[in-house]
Amino acid sequence: MLSQFTATPGKGTTRLTYSKEDLQARNYIKEIMKEYGLSVREDGLGNIFGKLEGTLKDAPSVLVGSHFDSVPNGGSYDGPAGVVAGLEVAGLFSKNNLTPKYPLEVIALIEEEGSRFGGGLMGSRGITGLLTEEEFFKITDKDGKTTVEAMTEIGLDPSLPKKRDPKTLKAFLELHIEQGPILEEKGIPIGMVEAIVGLTQLEVTVEGRAGHAGTTPMDRRADALVAAAQMIAKFPEFACEEGDGTVITTGRLNVWPNGANVIPDKVVFTVDIRSGKEERVLDAVEKVTEWVKSYNGHGIKTTVQQQLYMPPKVMNQEIVSLLKQKCSERNLSYCSINSGAGHDAMVLSDVTDVAMLFIPSKDGLSHCPEEWSSSKDIANAVEILYEAAKTLTEAE
Ligand SMILES: [Zn+2]
Repeated sequence: MLSQFTATPGKGTTRLTYSKEDLQARNYIKEIMKEYGLSVREDGLGNIFGKLEGTLKDAPSVLVGSHFDSVPNGGSYDGPAGVVAGLEVAGLFSKNNLTPKYPLEVIALIEEEGSRFGGGLMGSRGITGLLTEEEFFKITDKDGKTTVEAMTEIGLDPSLPKKRDPKTLKAFLELHIEQGPILEEKGIPIGMVEAIVGLTQLEVTVEGRAGHAGTTPMDRRADALVAAAQMIAKFPEFACEEGDGTVITTGRLNVWPNGANVIPDKVVFTVDIRSGKEERVLDAVEKVTEWVKSYNGHGIKTTVQQQLYMPPKVMNQEIVSLLKQKCSERNLSYCSINSGAGHDAMVLSDVTDVAMLFIPSKDGLSHCPEEWSSSKDIANAVEILYEAAKTLTEAE
């Protein structure tokens, strides 16, 4: 399956956007799309679309899919489970010789995790225009390589259109692993996503003064790392104060010059803030920003940049009801659930009707090699998506 395309064999899936492994996975996905009779297209971001034409002229498409990139040393299911589900839905259309009125489109999106270019959700943000072409062209990876250079290296064409006219979209269905423990603990095979939590990423830069670790007295220092450490240590307290499941995480920290005997003069770290309630997110952003700024002075200078802000998003109630109905018809139990992670569905909900299904994650684990979901759960979800896609595309 897709998990064979990894830069870290035996140590989980590492499939960064526009890497060699991206190209291998891409070719595999395109091959299956063709096998299922879909016409394949890539846009100027490298997102892949496999389309089964409908009988209605110029009708909007029902999209099914997810992303196919991964975090470093991640799992085989976060993203690809949804892409494979989309492919299998198309496979069932082909096997049952269905002709839809509205086109069915399987989509495989790039850079949802933001592991190479930061920010995340790049494929869907490009499609909706939330990320403009100009902004896209300016983005570089940690080695300074631009998106355009990286795309060209694997034979993609960055000059192709990126933003999609919302009029071409009828609905988007995404299957994703839960990435948490709830469904497994309850023994329920399907999670019906009602809302996706809001998500904010800040990038904090702390500048101090470099100096010799042996000869600079403690009271003459402006140590950027000591200041950053004190800032970060306070974040868990802020999250608890907010409550309502608010979480704050610093997951990346870079130190300059990063020498064992040099006082750090610059630190850049990320702050990821999430909550199901928008006011909690906004409040936490304000608290973090104020706290960071309070360190200005005595040779320390701070800047806070908001790199991403997504308010909580509610799923389309009609499609959610349709999915629930399909579950009931098949005697599959489900429960309502909120998504604690951001997803492409969240971005696409701005331009089309979206719904999401979750399947259980073993031990609630994700973003690690141990990430696992059962093929039976995936197959069940595919059935539900297939039935819903049949209704939404008005296929016979
Ligand atoms: Zn994902």
